[in-house]
Amino acid sequence: MSLETRTYFNEINFIEIETPYLIKSTPEGARDFVVPSRMNKQQFYALPQSPQTFKQLLMVSGYDRYFQIVKCFRDEDLRADRQPEFTQIDCEMAFVNQQDILDTFEGLIKHLFQKLIGLSFKEKFPVITYEKAMLNYGSDKPDIRFEMKLNYIDSLAKGKGFNVFDQAESIVAISVPNCADYSRKKLDKLTEWVKRPQIGAKGLIYVKLNSDNTIKSSVDKFFNSEDLKQWGNLCGSKPGDLLLILSGNSEEVQKQMNELRLKMGTDLNLRDPSVFKPIWVVDFPLLEKDNETGDFHAMHHPFTSPKSEDLKLIDENPIQVRANAYDLAINGVEVGGGSIRIHNRDVQEKMFALLGFSKEEAKEQFGFLMDAFEYGAPPHGGIAFGFDRLCTLFGGRENIREFIAFPKNNQGRDVMIDAPSKIDIQQTKELGISLEEIEN
Ligand code: ASP
Repeated sequence: MSLETRTYFNEINFIEIETPYLIKSTPEGARDFVVPSRMNKQQFYALPQSPQTFKQLLMVSGYDRYFQIVKCFRDEDLRADRQPEFTQIDCEMAFVNQQDILDTFEGLIKHLFQKLIGLSFKEKFPVITYEKAMLNYGSDKPDIRFEMKLNYIDSLAKGKGFNVFDQAESIVAISVPNCADYSRKKLDKLTEWVKRPQIGAKGLIYVKLNSDNTIKSSVDKFFNSEDLKQWGNLCGSKPGDLLLILSGNSEEVQKQMNELRLKMGTDLNLRDPSVFKPIWVVDFPLLEKDNETGDFHAMHHPFTSPKSEDLKLIDENPIQVRANAYDLAINGVEVGGGSIRIHNRDVQEKMFALLGFSKEEAKEQFGFLMDAFEYGAPPHGGIAFGFDRLCTLFGGRENIREFIAFPKNNQGRDVMIDAPSKIDIQQTKELGISLEEIEN
């Protein structure tokens, strides 16, 4: 894959440039791994979460097409598709708009599909906004190999005396094809599944739209056949389909329904690993709010530019501001993401202020970037693809560990070489650090 990546970029005049690993932190949402400096006692380097600020500086200095196949380091909780160190195909271009970026890097992905697994995509990849992706699939990385979209039945289901629905912020249904004959046992099992803490639903309502046009549901006491038929109509169901319904807080229900939709897709063999369905998701929100602290975080990273038409909202209603940010999802996996960057000092300062940095903190941490913008930074943007994730996808698997030589386990350990491990007391002295005893 690296060979084909280099071939593609070479043909369109990209330059491969290495950037340092011992750096100052780049905020990409995870914790940094840190490395103590012997020559600068009690000071630490951070390992890059990505080469984000370096590639932007390269653009300012006149390299208008950069790429690098690069290790990135993020200290975060591990899942099947995460490793503390992983590889990105990291890219940046100057004098571009969002469409130029989508076109150029869609080209890379098509090239890799063609060369690695002999698959050619004639059509352009579909594009969906973040808002629509959340509405239709409950996910910002939708698996579009199958339909079963989310439907909002609030207007039909409220006000009929069923308390659970009447008190819910949102009532969401999916229509599962040809499953009206599900047994009681199967439905009970599904109900248990959605109630597991990982999913967190309170319960599951079903409506069987039987092939003989009779209807049976778990809420027959509150709704008559005519009501239930209307739900089916709204969901575009056919006789023989099964409606599965969740209700509650809007955001939570969307997330739960995404999980249930994916499970039903898997159970019904609608997620064929030999079928590949890429989709661009665009117009992500610029910010997300931490519900506990009320603080804003950058949804992508702090260098992402707001959409110019939303700039007017930035003071009064920052959460509504959309960003020039995009992801590429394939089969429900986020394989890459990027953005058009801020290239103006004032806007960058405003962004840091929104994220809670004081002027001094912003200058201390990112003065080098904002100073660079003073020299006439070109409009620029880029993207990074997860190299290991792409390999895993091409290999038809789910766990990136299977595509990394010497992976770490989910405690972040390499059990073969036994790392991480204690270091010699002499080493700590040289570094000017002392370790406290911690009781386990
Ligand atoms: N640095 C970003 C990331 O690692 C990608 C980008 O914005 O180009 O997700």
